[in-house]
Amino acid sequence: MDVGTCKRCGEFEGRCECGKGRILLDSEKRRKVSKFLSGILRHFAEEFGIEVDEEGWARVEDVLRVLKERYGVGRKHLELIVKFDKKGRFEIRNGKIRAKYGHSLAVNTVWSESGDIPAKLYHATSPENLESIVERGLLPMKRREVHMCATPEEAIEVGKRHAKNPILIEIDAEPALKAGIEIRKKGRVYTADHIPPNFLRVKGSVTSILDSSPPEKSDK
Ligand SMILES: [Zn+2]
Repeated sequence: MDVGTCKRCGEFEGRCECGKGRILLDSEKRRKVSKFLSGILRHFAEEFGIEVDEEGWARVEDVLRVLKERYGVGRKHLELIVKFDKKGRFEIRNGKIRAKYGHSLAVNTVWSESGDIPAKLYHATSPENLESIVERGLLPMKRREVHMCATPEEAIEVGKRHAKNPILIEIDAEPALKAGIEIRKKGRVYTADHIPPNFLRVKGSVTSILDSSPPEKSDK
């Protein structure tokens, strides 16, 4: 969706109420810039001469310099991207910006927003990972943290990016927290360093859950 500002309605996504607002980023450009922003803050800040501290913060000025050069966008555009990001991937504070999760950079990911952790969380993964998960629990693999979602639907959406027919796993977050396992809230994603197998329940393949037909036989 487009984003923009309006003298009467303020910042908006889609269309403003009075219809006279100015669109600053159309959906296509917004998508491109968001993707790039997420890439630099999570993975390749250094390649653009942007310094990221150990908590993942970069100076907004530095990021703007690169965004302006590549996309011709400015501060307001950046603010709109952050504000309306559907997954709450970014935050701006005290002139700095960071991605809330998903880093491959060596940043200290052990911080959390205040807010309740749901009693149950969900993770969807490729069937190939199942054996390891049953044995060793959920581990971060290529990322720095395990990612979990508040609803099965969100988890499935994420899982489908990595596997055609992902397996849904339910996490007993409440007992895990009580057992001293740290679960962190980062935007709409929840993270942990490791969830042991005893807090996991395999719900089966997503196709079988969605169609409520028997799960497909896998060779793996
Ligand atoms: Zn308006």
